[in-house]
Amino acid sequence: MVVTYEQALSLVHDRIRAANRVPGTETVPLDLALGRALAEDVAADRDLPPFHRAIRDGYAVRAGDLSALPAVLRCVGEVPAGRSFEGEVRPGQCVSIMTGAPMPEGADAVVMVEHTVPHGGNVEIQRGVQPRENIVLRGSEAAQGARIVACGRRLQAAEIGLLASVGKAAVAVHRKPCVAILPTGDEVVPIEQPPQWYQIRNSNAAALAAQVKSAGGVPLQLGIAPDRSDLLKEMIERGLNSDLLLLSGGVSMGKFDLVEEVLAELGAEFYFQGTAIRPGKPLVFGRVRGRFFFGLPGNPVSTFVTFELFVRPALALLSGAAFEPPVFLRARLAKPRRQKLGLTMFIPAFVQMRDRVPVVEPVGWQGSGDLVGVAAANCFLVIHPDQTDLAAGDWVDIMPKGQ
Ligand code: AMP
Ligand code: MG
Repeated sequence: MVVTYEQALSLVHDRIRAANRVPGTETVPLDLALGRALAEDVAADRDLPPFHRAIRDGYAVRAGDLSALPAVLRCVGEVPAGRSFEGEVRPGQCVSIMTGAPMPEGADAVVMVEHTVPHGGNVEIQRGVQPRENIVLRGSEAAQGARIVACGRRLQAAEIGLLASVGKAAVAVHRKPCVAILPTGDEVVPIEQPPQWYQIRNSNAAALAAQVKSAGGVPLQLGIAPDRSDLLKEMIERGLNSDLLLLSGGVSMGKFDLVEEVLAELGAEFYFQGTAIRPGKPLVFGRVRGRFFFGLPGNPVSTFVTFELFVRPALALLSGAAFEPPVFLRARLAKPRRQKLGLTMFIPAFVQMRDRVPVVEPVGWQGSGDLVGVAAANCFLVIHPDQTDLAAGDWVDIMPKGQ
C-alpha cells in the first residue's frame, strides 16, 4: 500500500500511539536532563517572580506623585538586587532601585534613570509613569503551585532554566528508547575498511546514530547485514530486542532487496509499504513481534530525509514525549521551478535572508545518493503534490534540516 506523506505521518502517529509503550522513568540530575522527556508535572515552588520586581534601573516612585512634571522627590534610600528596602515610600519620596530588586512598600512604578537628574538628596523626575510601569508583579509569570512544565515535555535549555528557577536539582524523566540500526547491502563496508572501487562505505549507520542521539534515543549498531535472507533474518531478530528497529537499504524493487520478504517471514504487519514522497518513496513502516520498525531506503539522502520526516516524530512518542511532526516554515522561491505531479518533494536547499525576506534556493545535487548536497544545505524545499509550476518569488514551504 502506497500512501501520501500526510497519511504516512498519521499512520506512524496512530500506530505508535495506540501501542501505548510509555518507557519507564528514572531520576537524573538536572544537568543530565537535556533532550529527555519529563516524567512528572513540575509546579512553581513559589510565586514567579517571588516579589514585585523592578525591571529597570532608576527610582521606585508613587506614580500619583508625578502628575505635574518635572517633579522633585526626596530620595530616602537605595535597593540593589539581592537586598530589600525595609521602610515605606511615602508621598513625595522615592528610592533608588536597580534591575532585579524588589519594589519597596508604597512605591508602584519605576522611573528609568535616564529620565531623572539627582540634586543632593532630591531627584528631579522628568517623565511620568503609569502605575506598574517597569515592574513585573509577583506571581504574574506563574503562581505558587501552578504547573510550569508538563509531564512529557522534552527538556531543552529554556525548560531546564525554568526547572532550575523552581529548585529542581533532579528531575524524573523517561528512559531513552534503544534504537537498533541495521544497514543492509553486500556493497556496504565498515568505514574503517578500505573499500574496493565497487564498494560503498557505511555512511547511513553513522548518520542514523547521530540522528537517533539528537532525537533522544540510544543507538545500537548491529553491524552490516549482507543481502542474504538467512543472515538478514538473524540480524533482524537481534534488533527486535530494542525499542525500535531501523533498517537501511533493501526495500526497493531489486532482486536482492530482501528486507520486506524477511520481515514478512518473521510475521511482520506492514502499515505502509511506500509513500508518495521523493526522496524516500520505498519507505516501509510496520511492527513485528511487538516492535516497530522502519525500512528506510538505502540512498543516504533518502535515509536522512525519511528519518527526519517519520522516525524523529516516532521517537518522540517512544521517548514519552508528545508527537513532534515536522513543522514547515515559509520562504520565497529564488528561481522558478517545474515539478512532476503527485509527489511531495524534499529538495536540499539553502535559505537565507535577503532584504528581510527569507529566500530559498535548491543546492546543486545529484539525487538521493548525494550527501554532499545535503551537507551544503540548511533546509529542504518542500513541494506539495499539487504544486506543478512555481514562479520566482512564490511563497513555498521549507523544512529545517534537523540536527
Ligand atoms: P538500496 O536501498 O539497498 O537499493 O540502496 C540504494 C543505494 O544506497 C545504493 O546505491 C546503496 O549502495 C546505497 N546504500 C545502501 N546502504 C548504504 C549505507 N549503509 N551507507 C551508504 N550507502 C548505502
Ligand atoms: Mg541494497
